[in-house]
Amino acid sequence: MDIRERIIVAFDVNNKDSLKELAGKLKGHAKTVKIGMELYMSLGPEVIKTLKGFDYNIFLDLKLHDIPNTVGKTCYSLAKLGVDILNVHAAGGAQMLKAAKQGLIDGAHDSGNQPAKLIAVTQLTSTDQATLNNELGISGSIEQAVVNYAKLTYECELDGVVASAKEVEIIKEACGKNFITVTPGIRPKGSAAGDQKRVVTPEDAFAMGTDYVVIGRPITQAQDPVSAFDQILESIKV
Ligand code: C5P
Repeated sequence: MDIRERIIVAFDVNNKDSLKELAGKLKGHAKTVKIGMELYMSLGPEVIKTLKGFDYNIFLDLKLHDIPNTVGKTCYSLAKLGVDILNVHAAGGAQMLKAAKQGLIDGAHDSGNQPAKLIAVTQLTSTDQATLNNELGISGSIEQAVVNYAKLTYECELDGVVASAKEVEIIKEACGKNFITVTPGIRPKGSAAGDQKRVVTPEDAFAMGTDYVVIGRPITQAQDPVSAFDQILESIKV
C-alpha cells in the first residue's frame, strides 16, 4: 500500500468552508482522511459525499459504544454510506463487537457496498496510567489493558484496533501481523502534544510496525498544512 494512504489526516473541523478548504489544499497529497464526531455531528452524512468528491479514502471515527442491538443497527445504517474504515469501542464487549460486524456486513450487502474495515478502540491515547487505574477503575498496566482489548477484538473477528504506537509490538505478538493497528497520538518532532499523553513521532510509529498513523492538529493547524504533510512523508521515507 502507498505510504500516503497510511497517513490518515484527522479533519477535526466543524463547518463546510473549513472542510472544503482543507480538503482542497491536501488533495493529491493526503489520500486518507478521518471524519470524527465533531465534523460528523456538525455536517451529518453529507460530509462523506463531500470528501468522496475529493477522492479521499474515509475513516469514519465515531467510536460507537452502546448496547449490541443499537450498535449493530447503527453499523447497518453506516455501511450504506460506503466508508472504508469504521470503529467501535472494544469496551462494549464481545456481543457488541459481533453485532457491529454483522450489522456492517448486512448493511454493505443490502446496499451493494464493500464492507468497511471494522476496528476497535482499545484505550484512548489521552488516557494515562493514573487515569486508567484511578478514574476508570481498571487495574494493571495500560499495555495489559490494551492487549486484553486487542485479543477480545481479534476473537470477535474484527480487522484491527486503534491504539498507541507504543503498543503495536505487543498487539501484533498477541493477534498476528495481519491484525491492523491504527495509531493516533502522533507528534512530529517539535510539535505541541496538546491533550495527547502518550505521543510518538511518525517515523518511530512506522518503525514500531504500525499500519496507519492518525495525525490531526500538527497538519490541520499548521500555517501550511501541505508542507506539514509533505515533511511528515519525507521523515518516514528517510
Ligand atoms: O490532533 P491530533 O493529532 O491529536 O488528533 C488525533 C485524532 O485521533 C483526534 O481526532 C482523536 O479523536 C483521534 N483519536 C485519538 N486517540 C484514540 C482514538 C482516536 O486521539 N485512541
